[in-house]
Amino acid sequence: LDINFEIKDKILEIVKGDITLRNTDAIVNAANRYLQHGGGVALAIVRRGGDIIQTESNMIIRNQGPIPTGKAVYTSAGNLKSKYVIHVVGPDYNEYAPDAATEFLKMSINSCFDLALKLRLKSISLPAISSGIYGFPKDKCADILIQETFRHLEKRDSLKKVEFVLFDEITADIFANTAKKYF
Ligand code: ADP
Repeated sequence: LDINFEIKDKILEIVKGDITLRNTDAIVNAANRYLQHGGGVALAIVRRGGDIIQTESNMIIRNQGPIPTGKAVYTSAGNLKSKYVIHVVGPDYNEYAPDAATEFLKMSINSCFDLALKLRLKSISLPAISSGIYGFPKDKCADILIQETFRHLEKRDSLKKVEFVLFDEITADIFANTAKKYF
């Protein structure tokens, strides 16, 4: 499953697979506030990318303390094909009222897009932020992330390709069906 959607000169791609294998300019990590990459997609990223990602993350935490929910920071990407890993702290669905969780997830993906512009990225890969350990319902997660992506791709800027890389078939199907609604 690999589906493309086009909007002007830009592309949204829905991919079923492992985000650590992508060759976009940056991959996004669904991180926790302490950037301790001990489980889920974060652990997969550090395993393949190498210790430098955790080391640089620790430096960020030493310098600026825990990362607020909705914010993104970046490190280099070690052995990954990408240039950067963007670490974003999505909301833990069980910590917030549903409306607040929704706003924080919007903030999270927009923080990623802001960094993408700052770093002049042409392409970026994102996972289903908050939908794993953080328990965000997958259909709701897809709806928010795809809608914000659509809004962003309508703008004129350097980011030409956004791809969602979903680890399992069910999530990939949900994202593909959601994208069909908006694009
Ligand atoms: P969170 O704490 O934000 O929920 P998780 O890492 O637990 O973060 O999960 C986020 C999503 O990433 C989940 O849908 C999970 O299935 C998915 N995921 C886990 N490993 C990978 C991977 N290697 N590539 C892409 N997605 C992954």
